[in-house]
Amino acid sequence: MRSALWCDGVRVRYGGIEVLHDVRLALAYGTFSALVGPNGAGKTTLLDWCAGAATDASATEGRLRLNGREATTWSAARRAITGLRYVPFERNVFPALSVLDNLRACAATDALSRFPELEALAARPAAVLSGGERQLLAVASAMFGRGSILLIDEPTHGLAPALADRVLEDLARAAREDGRAVLIAEPQPDRVESFADFLWPLDRGARLPVVGA
Ligand code: ATP
Repeated sequence: MRSALWCDGVRVRYGGIEVLHDVRLALAYGTFSALVGPNGAGKTTLLDWCAGAATDASATEGRLRLNGREATTWSAARRAITGLRYVPFERNVFPALSVLDNLRACAATDALSRFPELEALAARPAAVLSGGERQLLAVASAMFGRGSILLIDEPTHGLAPALADRVLEDLARAAREDGRAVLIAEPQPDRVESFADFLWPLDRGARLPVVGA
């Protein structure tokens, strides 16, 4: 089976201190997975590494394949062209653009009918959104946009529980119905275990996935 994303032997150091030790991960198209682990476990570091957003390439090791192709040396832009869409935890929207123009920029205006919360904010500049509103815009831009591999850091952060559940349901649907590979980072396993197909416990090294519900 061709993996959407596969990585092995990933090690990342900050200032000589290794925070990821020999991490491996494999994501298939059509599945929704969650990296789980406490704050500081290295979830953001791993997503950054997969997206090509790690700050100092000389402090990393590991191999990456995207859509079955060797991608270890690819730039972030080339990974994006291949279909990888990364939503980091911060700086994940265009602040000077309105909510509507953010969605247009990602070909994701269908999000407005699914999330009336965003429709009500359509004319507002993204810069003035609350943290939760911004997070919803960023996640919706990715989910309703064109990427085939979505990596999203804490998509439900700042969202009310009912809205968070809808976002997780939609991410599961984006994976299973559209055949995309979706990976999120989530500090609380019980928040996602009923939605995700696989949970990857991360504590400085990813172990084999735990099959979810
Ligand atoms: P959180 O949810 O708190 O962001 P996380 O699981 O995403 O946690 P990371 O942010 O990847 O974890 O951090 C992993 C470890 O690396 C932590 O010990 C953190 O302090 C350290 N770290 C992260 N970024 C840097 C950096 N730029 N410089 C130095 N250390 C860093």
